[in-house]
Amino acid sequence: MLEKYKSEIDVHTICHDQCVPMCPIFTIERKTTVYPSRKAQIARCLLTGEVNWDEDSAELFYHCCGCRQCMVACVYLKDPKDPTPIYQAARYEAIKEGGDVGVIFLDQQGIGSLIMPNYIRN
Ligand code: SF4
Ligand code: SF4
Repeated sequence: MLEKYKSEIDVHTICHDQCVPMCPIFTIERKTTVYPSRKAQIARCLLTGEVNWDEDSAELFYHCCGCRQCMVACVYLKDPKDPTPIYQAARYEAIKEGGDVGVIFLDQQGIGSLIMPNYIRN
């Protein structure tokens, strides 16, 4: 699933974070790990095997509310990039890696984008 987004992951990975000030999760948490591009970098490292799936790597992809404000502020003005499908795919992979689904919240589009594996909840 995550492999499908490899080219999109690369685009966000090499970006210099122009969208960060628009991200409400960063505004609240003030951690560089929640930058839209950093989450893409971790997704890339999970694909290459440089990072393994564990509680910390999986949990990172839940630090996104799906608001797409990063896309509004994207440096690619004529073709804004949306990183949220990458995070959703990563959550899907986390479920596969982490076992049973604990909770499913539906977002405004009715997509179960906040699916949380039991091992993160516990
Ligand atoms: S979609 Fe996620 S990463 Fe993008 S601005 Fe909103 S919370 Fe931040
Ligand atoms: S959303 Fe746009 S500005 Fe933000 S990291 Fe991705 S490519 Fe860069």
